[in-house]
Amino acid sequence: MKQSFRKHSWAEPYKIKMVELLDMNEREDRENFLREAGYNTFLLKSKDVYIDLLTDSGTSAMSDRQWSGLMMGDEAYAGSRNFYHLEDAVRKFYSYKHVVPTHQGRGAEHIISQIMIKPGDIIPGNMYFTTTKLHQELAGGIFKDVIIDEAHDSESEFPFKGNIDLDKLDALVKTYGAEKIPYVAMATSVNMAGGQPISMSNLKALRTYTQKHGIKIIHDMTRVAENAWFIKQGEEGYADKSVAEIVYEICSLTDGATMSSKKDAMVNIGGFLAINDDDLFDEARNMVVVYEGLHTYGGMAGRDMEALAIGIEESVSDNHMHARIGQVQYLGEQLLRYGVPIIKPIGGHGIFIDAKKFLAHIPQAQFPAQRLAAEIYLDAGVRTMERGIVSAGRNKESGEHNFPKLELVRVTIPRRVYTQAHMDVIAESIGNVYSYRHEIKGMKMIYEPKYLRFFQARFELL
Ligand SMILES: *Cc1c(COP(=O)(O)O)cnc(C)c1O
Repeated sequence: MKQSFRKHSWAEPYKIKMVELLDMNEREDRENFLREAGYNTFLLKSKDVYIDLLTDSGTSAMSDRQWSGLMMGDEAYAGSRNFYHLEDAVRKFYSYKHVVPTHQGRGAEHIISQIMIKPGDIIPGNMYFTTTKLHQELAGGIFKDVIIDEAHDSESEFPFKGNIDLDKLDALVKTYGAEKIPYVAMATSVNMAGGQPISMSNLKALRTYTQKHGIKIIHDMTRVAENAWFIKQGEEGYADKSVAEIVYEICSLTDGATMSSKKDAMVNIGGFLAINDDDLFDEARNMVVVYEGLHTYGGMAGRDMEALAIGIEESVSDNHMHARIGQVQYLGEQLLRYGVPIIKPIGGHGIFIDAKKFLAHIPQAQFPAQRLAAEIYLDAGVRTMERGIVSAGRNKESGEHNFPKLELVRVTIPRRVYTQAHMDVIAESIGNVYSYRHEIKGMKMIYEPKYLRFFQARFELL
C-alpha cells in the first residue's frame, strides 16, 4: 500500500499506563472448555481466552482522557451536560444535525427501521449486516444486496470492495419503483465483506443517483474513520486530506446514520442515531422514549456519553488511524507469510481467513469456518469467530441454510489493546493450524436458536 502519509512505521501513538493480566492455560484445558462451549467461540468464557479477537466491538482500550471523562458524568435524567458534549461532537466531526443516543448500534437500527420502513419496502444495501438486516425485516422490509460483485469474490484485490453497484440499484428502482425504497443502507468499511471501504467517488455517484430519485442514504457509520483512512491512502485527491476531513465529507453525503460506538469510537457500550431531517428526528426522539430512554440519554449513562464524545475525537486522528490499520495490516502480512489464505486487500478491523480454501476438504454444510475458529482456539487460546454459513442463517421461505459465497473466520483486532508480539503469536498459531489442516474434520449442529443463530448455536465434531 502506498504510504503517502508518513514515512515512519505504524508504531503506537500512546504508551501503556495500566495492564490487565491474562490466564495462560494448556491445550488439554482448552479441549474441555471448547467441548463445554459446544465448539462455538461465542460460548467460551473470556477468562479461558488468551488473545481475544472475537470482535472489535466494545473491546477497545479507552484513553486516560476517556477514563477521566467517566468521572465527569452528569447522571441527570434530562438534559445531561454530557449529552450536549456528544451532540457537539456528532455535529463537529460527523456533520449530522440531530442525535438520539441508544444503548448500542442495534437500538438505532431498530428506531430508523421502524420509522422509515413500511411493510413491503425494499432496502438496498452494500452487503447485509446481521442486526441491520434483521431490524429491516422486523419492520416489514426486504433487504437487497447491491454491493459490487468483487466484494463476494475472495480473489479480487479491488481496493474499494465496499462500493455500491449503481446498475444493481437502478434495476431495483426500475422493478419496484423509487417510492418503495425509503433509503439505501450504505455502510462504510463493510463488515461482512471483510472491513472493505467504499470510495468517495462511488458515494458521490450514489448521492447524485439517490437525490434524483428521492431516496435517502442512511449510513452505517460504525467504522467510518477506518474507511476514511483507506480513502486517504488509495483514492486520488485525498492523500493530503486528514482523516477528520474525509470522515466529515463522507457523512455530509448522507442523510443520517446509525452508529455502534463500540467500534470506531472506542467506548465499551453505546451508540446513536443521527439524522438531518427535522421530522424524522421528531419521530425518532419520540420512539426512543419507548424503547431506550429519554432522548437526552437514550440507552446511555451520562458518563458513557462523555467517554463517547471524547472517543469520537480520538478516532478521527491520523496518528491513531495509522497505528490502528497498520497493526491489522502487519498481522495480515505475517499470515500471508505462512501461506494462510486470507481475503485481500487486508481490511480495516481485522483479517478474514478464507475457510473454504483453508479447509477445502470440508463441505460448507459441515461448517468449515466454525470448525476452523474452534481449532484456532485450541491451538494457542486465540479466540476468533465464524462469518459464514452459520452467520448467514436460513432462507425464510424454504427453511434451508443460506449458503454464502464467503465462508470466513474473522480475526478482529480490538483498538489499542494488543501489542506487536501478540500479533506474532496469533500468526504463528494460525500458521501452525494451517500446517496440519488436512487432519481437521467437519462438524454438525446440535442446537440452533431461531434468531442470529451464530451467537448461541452448539456443535459436535464429526
Ligand atoms: C456492530 C455493528 C452493528 C450493530 O451494532 P451493535 O452496537 O453491536 O448493536 C451494526 N453494523 C455494523 C457494521 C456493525 O459492525
